[in-house]
This record gives sequence, structure tokens and C-alpha cells, in this order.
Amino acid sequence: MQVRKVLRIKVREAYPSKEGERRRTICELLEKDSQEKVQIQTLIIDQVKEWKKEGFPFITPTFQKNTVDYAASTENTTGQGYWFQVDPEREDEIILYVKTPPGILGHDLDTDSPYKSQTVRLRFLNWFPRKARRAGNKAQEARVQGKQHRAIQLEYRASHFEDMSQQLENTIKLQRFTRELAKERAQPEKNEVRINDLKTMIHQLKKSRKSAPPLIQIEGKKVTLTIPFMAPDEDLLRTALPASTIRKRRAGVDRGLRHSMVVSVKNGEDTYEETMIGKQELFEKRENLRQVTRILMSQIARRRNNWEKKHAKQQPPTSILKKEQELESIWQKVRRLDKEISHQVAAETVWFCEQHGVKTIYFEDLRSFQGKGGMRRHSWNLSTNLWGMMIEGVRYRREALGHKNGGIWLVNPAWTSQTCHVCGRRGIRVEHETSTSEQKGGEYFHCSKCDENFHADVNAARNIMYIQQPKPSAVSGRTA
Ligand SMILES: [Zn+2]
Repeated sequence: MQVRKVLRIKVREAYPSKEGERRRTICELLEKDSQEKVQIQTLIIDQVKEWKKEGFPFITPTFQKNTVDYAASTENTTGQGYWFQVDPEREDEIILYVKTPPGILGHDLDTDSPYKSQTVRLRFLNWFPRKARRAGNKAQEARVQGKQHRAIQLEYRASHFEDMSQQLENTIKLQRFTRELAKERAQPEKNEVRINDLKTMIHQLKKSRKSAPPLIQIEGKKVTLTIPFMAPDEDLLRTALPASTIRKRRAGVDRGLRHSMVVSVKNGEDTYEETMIGKQELFEKRENLRQVTRILMSQIARRRNNWEKKHAKQQPPTSILKKEQELESIWQKVRRLDKEISHQVAAETVWFCEQHGVKTIYFEDLRSFQGKGGMRRHSWNLSTNLWGMMIEGVRYRREALGHKNGGIWLVNPAWTSQTCHVCGRRGIRVEHETSTSEQKGGEYFHCSKCDENFHADVNAARNIMYIQQPKPSAVSGRTA
């Protein structure tokens, strides 16, 4: 293959395609009545002769493909082509032997390798135990400082790393025991006790949590090794998170009128727990910046217009360009602020839900954003873009906590702000917690049938978690 490839390149170099013409294939160049046929033959013969004299240039070990994927492997035996081994000299380092595909040369034979054929040896640092220890220490510090939220987060992180470390350890053990069993069975004098011991251990390990087959990607000189791990499961979460967090509850999230967001969790039959996430100061900062951009934009537009009237098709003066630079830098600040807001809001939402054992969170679907009837836009009202960033932030964090697809559903929020979450009747907006006379855009919601007032945002958030899907979508959280 390599010989052919090199020869093809040689021929192409000697006969480059003429401009405006389709490049002729090597076959076409070598056709019976082709003018170049004899010359090409001579070229190839000369090249081969030279190689015979000087030696072939292609003996460097290379992977033919850019990716070596062992995902098809099901059992962690040596037969699978990869073999983990703890470095006997440096305990926190792991050696991975990779059997090179046929026809490809690897490194020199390694005596430690279980493979008789050529192998490539990769060494990597097992950083999980160290990370777990560090997170554990930080969690203790946080507890001492009274930061309970942070402590839970860090404790969870520590157990997550411990779990990954355990998974890798199980994989390594399983490989070792399986190999040992094969060896033991091949002995002429069978040690039945040892064989039975190994069988039991293998049986147990097969049921345990293990890392998946590795993936090796080669990009030039850079080699990336990926070892897929199992996501945290219920058991892990139960040990890592407070006892109250057995996740089976649902939560609804509404873009608030007076707060950026309201998260409502259903606790029991008719009891709820809510949190209002404000971040007003950040939203105010953002709104001020937006105001500056509006002013700058109109200034720039006016000046550009004037300039173009007088000096058509000439470069605008530096004063205009400077203004544009200024505008761009403010946009950058807005974008940074957006990131910060979505980051903070998402983190708070996720941890509130984690603490209350929420399994599914219902959000307003982005595509249904057409402005809610009669709602005044507040600066801290999450914009579509921010809302999207925030949901992605929640999804990402919850996936890391073991929720499938983040445990997120997007629903169409039609009527959620106009109907009562208890009886489903249409209600009115009122000004106070006790008033019953309609006030458009009021902070509270009044239901005449229940004769009760609720905070309007809370009522909407509770409604959102009850929206029935006509058909659950295949990919939860993506569509509704
Ligand atoms: Zn009602």
C-alpha cells in the first residue's frame, strides 16, 4: 500500500494537472496510447531500482488509521488487543499495551507485554485518587467554614473520582485474573483451588462497575487516550449526597417577572418548595451595558451615514473606527456577563434540585418564546439566548451528576401564567397577596374558584411541571 502511494505521488509530481483541466488518473496516464506511458514506466522502474539499492524508506512504525478503537471488545482479556497494567515501579502510573493491527510495526517487543506480536506502550498518570483526595480535603474545609452547599458539591466530586478510580482498578484486576486463569488452565498439573478462586473473583468483577474499552486517537505526533467511564449511578449518589436526595421529584422552572427565575419542587401531595433566583445586580449591570451599546450604535450609524454622504467609498475616519472598537469591547463584556449569569443561575438551580431529590426538571421550551401576553420586560427577565445558555448549563451539570440527558424536559408554557395550578381555571392578575380586583401585570395571581392568591411566578412554575405531553419525545429534554 505504502509503495503504491509513494509511487502515485511521484507520478503526480512529474505530471501535474494542467490548469483548467481535469487531473488525469494514473490509469489514464498509463493507457495504451498515452504519450506519457513509457516515461512513467521508466520513472517507476528507476525509483524501484533506487529503493533496492538504498533501502525502502517506509519502515517507521505508524498507525494506518487515525483512531484505534477497542469499543467492539466486550471482555477485558488479552485477546482484545489492549492491556492495562499498573506500573510496578511507580504506583500512580498505568501502562497500556496496545496490540498493533496486522501489518503495522509497533515498538520493539516489550517483555512485560502479554502480546507476542508487536505492541505499542502508552504510559499515563492515574490522577483519580489524587483528585479525590484533594476534593475530599476541600470539602472538609468547606464544612468547617459552614459552606454546606459547597461541601456537598465537593464530597460528590470526591466520590465521583473515587468511583472512576475503582472502575479502572476493576478493569485492571479483571484483565489480570482472566489471564491468570487461562495460564492456570494450560498447566499440565491443574491447581483446582486456585482456578476456583480466580473464577469467583472474575465472576464478582464482571458484575462490578468497570471502565469501557479505550480509544486512542492519533493526530500527528499527539496521541490522545480516552477511557470511557460509567456515569454515576443511584448507589453512588445515595452515598455521596444527603439522605434526602433520593431522586423522584419533579420541578418546574419559570422565567420570573420579578426574579430571573423561579424553581418549584413538588414535595408531597400538595406541598411545594420554591426558590427564587435573583441575580439582580448582574442583570442591572448587563442592562446598563446594553444601554451603552444602544447609544453607541446609533452614534456610529449617524456618523457613518454623514461620512458616506460626503465622502462616498472612502475609508471612514479613525474616530468612527474607534467608536466601533469601543462598541465591540462592550459587546464582549455583555457576553462575559451572560456567561457568568447563566453559570450562576444554572449552578443554583442544579443544587437546589439536587438537595430536593429532583428527578425531572421542566423548562419552558425556547421555541415557544413569543413574549408572554401583557408581560412587561424586566432587565432581569432572562432573554431567549440566556435562557438557552442556562438550560444547557443545567443539562451539562446534571449529566455529570448522573441524570440521563440531564433529566430535562422542555414544554410549551401556553396558559401557564393565566391558569390556576390547583384547579386549572383561568384566573386574574392582582396587585397584592389579598386583593381580588384585576390589575394587569400584577405580582399575584388570583383564582376565584379556589379563592386563593399565589405569587404569579410561583403559580406559573408549578403549572409548568404539570404540562402533559401528548407523546413523550424519544430524546427527552431536546424536544417537547
Ligand atoms: Zn384554582
